[in-house]
Amino acid sequence: MMSRVEPVLLLVGAGHAHLGVIDDWRKHGPPAARTVLVEPLDAMHYSGMVPGWIAGEYRASELQIPLALLVRQAGIEWHKASLVAMDPVARIARLDDGSDVGFDICSLATGGAGQAGTVLGSDPRLLDIRPLPGFVSRWQALREIGPKHRRIAVVGGGAGGVELAFGFRNSEHWSDCAVVLVAGEHGLLPDHGAPVRHRARHELAAQGIEVLSAEAQFADGELVADGRSLEPLDLVVAAVGSGAPDWPRESGLPTDADGFIEVDGHQRVCGFPQILAAGDVARRTDRHVGHAGVHAVYSGPVLAKNLRRMLAGKAPRRSYSPRFMDFYLLNTCRGESILSYAGLGLQGRWLRRLKDWLDTRWIRRFTVRGAS
Ligand SMILES: Cc1cc2nc3c(=O)[nH]c(=O)nc-3n(C[C@H](O)[C@H](O)[C@H](O)COP(=O)(O)OP(=O)(O)OC[C@H]3O[C@@H](n4cnc5c(N)ncnc54)[C@H](O)[C@@H]3O)c2cc1C
Repeated sequence: MMSRVEPVLLLVGAGHAHLGVIDDWRKHGPPAARTVLVEPLDAMHYSGMVPGWIAGEYRASELQIPLALLVRQAGIEWHKASLVAMDPVARIARLDDGSDVGFDICSLATGGAGQAGTVLGSDPRLLDIRPLPGFVSRWQALREIGPKHRRIAVVGGGAGGVELAFGFRNSEHWSDCAVVLVAGEHGLLPDHGAPVRHRARHELAAQGIEVLSAEAQFADGELVADGRSLEPLDLVVAAVGSGAPDWPRESGLPTDADGFIEVDGHQRVCGFPQILAAGDVARRTDRHVGHAGVHAVYSGPVLAKNLRRMLAGKAPRRSYSPRFMDFYLLNTCRGESILSYAGLGLQGRWLRRLKDWLDTRWIRRFTVRGAS
């Protein structure tokens, strides 16, 4: 039973799935509840356009979704802070500004954490892609330093690492910089089909990007892979996958071995059905759903419907099932994209136009105008 006349729904993090919830409230009216968003940043950053931004295809403002007006139009109260801990039994969230927020239902979409330091070791030249807003502002400052920095290592052989290698190779600020992609022991794009790997390898070679299928690590101030030093390097960019933040485990939420919050098919946290989690911070226990923006995006509308039902005292009914398994459009940052879908690997300018259309259409959906 709800503890207050008007139940409190707490949304933590303006992750992709929560944008779907905010959009639903905005379009269809908020449910009979007080909805509070806890998010420290003014804007949500969209990762899919970051490599294109590095290459000068987009401005920084084009990858950002400003939250203030969106949230206001959705009838949501915004608490500009970060969650640092929660008491899932008492249903209280602890924030970094020292306040506590009680809730009846809570939904978490706080994304993954950076793990570059853990995987590679520490070094002042290390630039982690996560959290994305931190990466964007650090690269904005670094790129102004300009031509001094001419050799970059990108660590990570997944789609993010490959796209970042293309982005930096075609950087508008560090033009003609040399890029080495250290793909890890599983090599290039291990989760994608052979035709995609073939296309990517061919394009990387055509752009003069060296690829190493080895693990990288800092040792005595040098980046080492396959037993040899990759120095001299001016910058080491890490796209080594999402790690989990510490607070879920420390707060007593059930987590998998990697620290991601375990949820059921309705995104409800196992053992705490009034708390839900979606996107990279969550791990589905009923089926495999990878950590990708596309899944976080498409789980949003489902989450919105389920939250509405739960706020009305009903059980959630819907479950998000991935429609686009392995749907990726890699930006080569030279006017083309490589499509990875169901084992297929296609490349072309029309795919780049398709990617741009999909990305900008998604961003535009949340770009609202009105009196501020
Ligand atoms: C270069 C690159 C390219 C990529 N391209 C693609 C692609 O083309 N397709 C694809 O499917 N995936 C792509 N990905 C993966 C994708 O970025 C992630 O899967 C996605 O960002 C995860 O989204 P999320 O909603 O879980 O979290 P996020 O988008 O990370 O959002 C989390 C939000 O929560 C906030 N937050 C964090 N901690 C707290 C806290 N403690 N309290 C309150 N708020 C908090 C943050 O400020 C942020 O606004 C790419 C990744 C990279 C690195």
